[in-house]
Amino acid sequence: MEKIKMTTPIVEMDGDEMTRVLWQMIKDELLTPFVELNTEYYDLGLVHRDETDDQVTVDAGNAIKKYHVGVKCATITPNAQRMDEYHLKKMWKSPNGTIRGILDGTVFRTPIPTPGIKTYIPSWTSPITVARHGYGDIYKDTEMRVTEPGVAELVFTGESGKVMRETIYNFECGGVLQGAYNKDTSIISFARSCFEFALAEKKDLWFSTKDTIMKKYDGFFKKTFEDLYENEYKEKFEKAGITYFYTLIDDAVARVVRSNGGMIWALKNYDGDVMSDMISTAFGSLAMMTSVLVSADGNYEYEAAHGTVTRHYYRYLKGEKTSTNPVATIFAWSGALKKRGELDGNERLTQFGQFLEDATMETIADGVVTGDLAALMDPKPQSVTSEEFIGGIRERLAKKLGC
Ligand code: NAP
Ligand code: MG
Repeated sequence: MEKIKMTTPIVEMDGDEMTRVLWQMIKDELLTPFVELNTEYYDLGLVHRDETDDQVTVDAGNAIKKYHVGVKCATITPNAQRMDEYHLKKMWKSPNGTIRGILDGTVFRTPIPTPGIKTYIPSWTSPITVARHGYGDIYKDTEMRVTEPGVAELVFTGESGKVMRETIYNFECGGVLQGAYNKDTSIISFARSCFEFALAEKKDLWFSTKDTIMKKYDGFFKKTFEDLYENEYKEKFEKAGITYFYTLIDDAVARVVRSNGGMIWALKNYDGDVMSDMISTAFGSLAMMTSVLVSADGNYEYEAAHGTVTRHYYRYLKGEKTSTNPVATIFAWSGALKKRGELDGNERLTQFGQFLEDATMETIADGVVTGDLAALMDPKPQSVTSEEFIGGIRERLAKKLGC
């Protein structure tokens, strides 16, 4: 078979620990034998981030803006323990946060339904995508611990000189307080990414907040979605046969549980953080959840939703063969290749991405699975190592490609 060619590069961001090991295996076994991989490579491994004072992360984010498609391996977000372990110059910020900041996008997380694994909620027959706003709110908050009586105020001083002031609370004792914000530009781009993604996926879009309590804050999110829908997306949605639906978050939680799934559920930053863990667990395994960051101006970054699987990596370093699940990382690659194919009109590449996903799911359906999946199955199959699992996918993929 002649290898599949790529006209435009995708931005490849390497990462850390066990996922870095899987990354190389996936490239060697499932990609480069079949595709003339055209990537612009950025090493986001912690060692190299430290060497470049994290400039490499910023460069990678900007490269995604240039080529519009990126694929990222999981990376370590340093904490105090990692500072010692890697002798870091600084506690570098989360690369995902940095890239989200550059692209100002929305993170869409979707579980991959797995043959042989029942969802915890039996009515969920289609995957639910959580669309998490990736900017601001409590993740950029300012907090205070106060230890005496006093007045806490919210003060805004406009460039024009206009001052707005509200009393938060008259403390009669010590307490805690917090200031959070979001920006018009980011909220609009969140709403737009969600509408665009719903159209691209042909799925209903739900949005929920707590606007009965946060009348101004969440009220503005709600109004932004409503206005954009009425003015720009209503007709497009009707034509595509999909709906937009807003409801209070409490009501949404109850309705989602009773639903058959299949919708995109847009949530503010914190709500999305929490709900995506609930959704992924309910569908099976964290290792079976894909994540794509989409910006309103059409940039896509694909990754696995899980981390670097540190515990497995330490076992790998001792020479053990681990049974780490590479599926979400494989789907990050297939997602990026399919998107590249779609943007470039490269049908062979798009088809390759689809074959890769099909071969992966067929391998699982044939009972060849990693330990995390085996544990969820009844009866439990014997689990295989990551290498054996990837080998199984390669065999099935090669057959589909006729080689
Ligand atoms: P994690 O890497 O997702 O792993 C947590 C546990 O979940 C693992 O120990 C493993 O359980 C199970 N697991 C996750 N992915 C798996 C897979 N592919 N195959 C099999 N089992 C899997 O989360 P963490 O341990 O909290 O974080 C480790 C590092 O990842 C941290 O340094 C963190 O900063 C980073 N992180 C990065 C990202 C990202 O880049 N997007 C996201 C989250 C965390 P068992 O050990 O029980 O088998
Ligand atoms: Mg979380």
